[in-house]
Amino acid sequence: MAFLPFYIPKQKRLKVVIVGGGYAGIAALTTLLHYAPDTEITIIDPNSQHLKITHLHETFRYPLTDLLIPFSDLENRFGCRHMAASVRFDEEQLQTCQEKKRLILDEEVLDFDYLLVASGCESRATEHHADVLDLQDFTTSPGSELLAQFINNHNQSDQSISVVGGGATGIQFLFEIKQFLSRTKSKTELRLIHSGEQVLEQFPEGFNAYVQSRMHDMNIAFYPNTYYRGQQSGTILLTEKQTEKQFELSSSMSILFLGKKQQRMFPANAFGQVIANKKSLQNIFAAGDCSYYQSLGSNTLTAQSAVRKGKLAARNILRHSGFLGLLEPYLHHELGYVVSLGPADAVGWLGTESNLLTGISALAIKELVEVQYDLLLAGIDTYLV
Ligand SMILES: Cc1cc2nc3c(=O)[nH]c(=O)nc-3n(C[C@H](O)[C@H](O)[C@H](O)COP(=O)(O)OP(=O)(O)OC[C@H]3O[C@@H](n4cnc5c(N)ncnc54)[C@H](O)[C@@H]3O)c2cc1C
Repeated sequence: MAFLPFYIPKQKRLKVVIVGGGYAGIAALTTLLHYAPDTEITIIDPNSQHLKITHLHETFRYPLTDLLIPFSDLENRFGCRHMAASVRFDEEQLQTCQEKKRLILDEEVLDFDYLLVASGCESRATEHHADVLDLQDFTTSPGSELLAQFINNHNQSDQSISVVGGGATGIQFLFEIKQFLSRTKSKTELRLIHSGEQVLEQFPEGFNAYVQSRMHDMNIAFYPNTYYRGQQSGTILLTEKQTEKQFELSSSMSILFLGKKQQRMFPANAFGQVIANKKSLQNIFAAGDCSYYQSLGSNTLTAQSAVRKGKLAARNILRHSGFLGLLEPYLHHELGYVVSLGPADAVGWLGTESNLLTGISALAIKELVEVQYDLLLAGIDTYLV
């Protein structure tokens, strides 16, 4: 058994229920088993497979199945149990869970010592329309299949695709789509519609300059300060942000990346314990995109933070269950971030935001980070911080 500072276990086999088997949930699972291999863990997730969503834009090049790991494989690998169900909590329910240490699901009673909520953050819902795709569509069919289908169905010479949303997800998809269209020798025009003046506004200014210059080189039209209103019979309906002037462009399809939905966030103290009615619930933790820690650490909606919070919550669950009960605060700060721009290019920062990387060096950092997560899924923890 690996050594965890400030953890002196009691002679009791812990029962932990993890709601959500994404990045935070998996990081918590592997960390719990690393330090306390006999922990009895149940993962509740409505899906039958864990999705490595940070690679989703790559399904224009690789099969979607490469990104899916059946929970049954994780059950065999880690000796945990998966229950296919969806659980939603409000403050009252969390308080009842804390008092009873029990969750009732599909008439099954799940007793636990600790509960970890790691159910992520949904994407903003969009209209369902044959000529509109969003992130959800790419979680069920590979990008290559969706676009090939579109190209076969719309065989006109002057067709175009509009990608809406210049955040990290929209940009990663935009460049993959452009390169897919080039590889398949399609003459389809590609444009980006974005509500802001610049793309990737949450990142250092150099990101925008680099991405815009690459878009220019690759002949991707850019409509900044423009709101999307809808897609209708071969046109995209738009509004200019400043003048509120409505206009439309010919567009065979819109692909929407409108960001994450504002939904129930679980506030937590600096140790990851959920706060309900102004009190910290001692046995209920939260991690990942659905959590907001009241601490000095980073609360960004990234896999990097999700993994760090999941690992911290797991360590604190063990410490809380032990003799000393001394918990560790969440202090993690982003170490960098890389946005890929197709198979051979990327832009990112490493260490400090002023340390900008582009091209192959940025791509290599991204690959390293992804390999680190793959190792974690295999049960090998190489995260130093
Ligand atoms: C295309 C794309 C690329 C990205 N690239 C990067 C990147 O390069 N680097 C980076 O740091 N971040 C990246 N991100 C962001 C990153 O993926 C998220 O921040 C991260 O997945 C959050 O982890 P999580 O565990 O909180 O949530 P998720 O990974 O979303 O997992 C949540 C899990 O909870 C389950 N769930 C949902 N609702 C319920 C419920 N009611 N009951 C039970 N279970 C439920 C879901 O099925 C899912 O398995 C990217 C995101 C996308 C979409």
